[in-house]
Amino acid sequence: MTGEVDKMDIANKVRQVLGKINGRAKVVAASKYVDAAEITELAANGIMAMGENRVDALLGKKGRVPVGVEWHFIGSLQSRKVKEAINEISCLHSLDRLSLAKEIEKHRQEPLDCLVQVNVSGEASKQGITPEELPGFLSALAGYPKIRVTGLMTMAPNTDDKEAVRACFAGLRKLRDVANAQGFSQLKELSMGMSNDYLIAIEEGATIVRLGSVLFED
Ligand SMILES: *Cc1c(COP(=O)(O)O)cnc(C)c1O
Repeated sequence: MTGEVDKMDIANKVRQVLGKINGRAKVVAASKYVDAAEITELAANGIMAMGENRVDALLGKKGRVPVGVEWHFIGSLQSRKVKEAINEISCLHSLDRLSLAKEIEKHRQEPLDCLVQVNVSGEASKQGITPEELPGFLSALAGYPKIRVTGLMTMAPNTDDKEAVRACFAGLRKLRDVANAQGFSQLKELSMGMSNDYLIAIEEGATIVRLGSVLFED
């Protein structure tokens, strides 16, 4: 997106999306598509949480948006970037390895809300631990006081098959419920659903949807 920000356009899109969601899930805007001007418009229209994929972009935008905007990190986080980014965010959606947990433990000042990314669909291109690894991973994370695991995140498979997408989301919900039954009772959040499938995700229990193109594209 270049040039003047179309304020009416962003306002209309936000209103439509929030109307459809109707309070059922929190919206994290995927801010990789936009700069500070668009983020300022989102905030003016009630979307206060931004999700970035890249550390450089996060640091570049953060100082130029209104007070009260909160930053989530939704992309894959390289261990060597943890130091400069980890105290700038309020939630990490992509915790997927103990080596990352170790870096966070080293550099983060306060406990951080983290979502464990799970590759429910099994697609080779997707980040995340396998469903089978989840119980062991959660147990191991209990040894990291700076990491407060508040839920799970997944990316739906790249397919037009709505039922396959729904099955992925239902799978993540089931993993959370099983984990809670096993004693990880603090797992509340399900970060799942993007522009093409967020209403399906909400039907399957999403508490957070990560939305980009539906807010910014025609
Ligand atoms: C870009 C992105 C989104 C949003 O994608 P859209 O399909 O544009 O809504 C959500 N999650 C992650 C991790 C992303 O990188």
